[in-house]
Amino acid sequence: MGHAFKRSVLVLFLLPFCICAPAFGAAGAHVFYPETVSLGQPFMIEIVSDEEPSGAIVTWFGKSAPMQFSRAGNGYFARLLLGSYMKTIKPGTYPLDIKMARSERIVRKRVMITIAPKQYAEDRLSLPEAMVTPPKKMQKRILQEQRMMKHIRETVSPFGFWKLPIRRPVSSAVSSTYGRRRILNGIPKSPHAGIDFRAAMGTPVIAALTGRVVATKDLYYSGLTVCVDSGQGILSYYYHLSEFNVREGQLVEQGSVLAKSGMSGRSTGPHLHFGFSLLGQYVDADSLFEANPSDMLKNTKMVPIDD
Ligand SMILES: [Zn+2]
Repeated sequence: MGHAFKRSVLVLFLLPFCICAPAFGAAGAHVFYPETVSLGQPFMIEIVSDEEPSGAIVTWFGKSAPMQFSRAGNGYFARLLLGSYMKTIKPGTYPLDIKMARSERIVRKRVMITIAPKQYAEDRLSLPEAMVTPPKKMQKRILQEQRMMKHIRETVSPFGFWKLPIRRPVSSAVSSTYGRRRILNGIPKSPHAGIDFRAAMGTPVIAALTGRVVATKDLYYSGLTVCVDSGQGILSYYYHLSEFNVREGQLVEQGSVLAKSGMSGRSTGPHLHFGFSLLGQYVDADSLFEANPSDMLKNTKMVPIDD
């Protein structure tokens, strides 16, 4: 009996800290962040404040995103998804900088996040030489398109249209995962920057997140391509399509039909390539199909922002 009593007292004591995910109660402003993340995998940070901040900006790998605060209970909270592109970022410890306007003053905080290595699979493929090495006359077009896509990927719109979980763009199985290192005809190529889904020609492709269509283009590698900007540096990409159902500039709801799948561009067969980037970093979106904020914020560290 004595044990049961102690446990119930403990539960009562812990309840106020468990029930509400954003965890308020502490005075001032705090950031919740994971101390260690895996290379290529998305993660979430949260800022909570007892009074409404005038604004906050988070900087990660030289790119900044504005935080969007919502009211909850007696406080305010804002969340952001971040990640690291396994092709360009090396495992290591990196700074995350927070700048916040609160109580009529600017407060700053730097926390360190360790990106742990993660092994990704390797694919050895044999393709006709013409598909591996593009013809010389295409070089200029390819470079222009790469520049354009980099520009799109680095867009940071002030709105935040995203929510978790994200939707699967098609319901079929995954045929190639993010991060697979590709060795084409014996030559190492860029790792896979997205997820391939099996998709018969003409399968409706739906928006993983609400956002604005920022590109409907016909590109050399990715063929008919749709890019959707969900704000705060979150963009999604749909490649090798056969038909567009949306126009550039259009706002699309999560789950609405963007296009029909196909095999346009450099594709060996019909499938959908789905890409996802956070502040310019292509990440593995796979975990986000099942994700919710409280799970993503589990095991995060809380530190005051204005200490
Ligand atoms: Zn792909």
